[in-house]
Amino acid sequence: MSESLLIPCPYCNGLNRIPAERLADAPRCGRCKQAVMSGAPFELSGAAFASQLKGDLPLLVDVWASWCGPCRAFAPTFEQAASQLLGRCRLAKLDSEAHPQLAGQLGIRSIPSLILFKNGVEAARQSGAMALPQLLAWLGQHGI
Ligand code: ZN
Repeated sequence: MSESLLIPCPYCNGLNRIPAERLADAPRCGRCKQAVMSGAPFELSGAAFASQLKGDLPLLVDVWASWCGPCRAFAPTFEQAASQLLGRCRLAKLDSEAHPQLAGQLGIRSIPSLILFKNGVEAARQSGAMALPQLLAWLGQHGI
């Protein structure tokens, strides 16, 4: 028997049960057939947030806005992290202008902000952009 994990689909929010050894294998959603794990950050919306907090993998949220230079500069680093952390952590981007209500609910005071959720609750938070090694080290401190 192999271990399996519950993973929410970033597109339809359906929960998928995926064998651990298939996580890095671009598994598709049983409901909408899109890639559940793609190695790229997905867009988080207010309506999807509660669903995306579910499942067995930690969720790292990058809160950003298009007018924010440091946010735009950090985007490629966040994409690289998503690819490196495939199967270990899910990465999502929250556009604080498009979803101000959720950004407010999360108590965002400055951007970029990174929030790590484990088991559906906030485990760590970091303001400001980081280089990739720093970001991976920070996540490492929190068991990712
Ligand atoms: Zn789906």
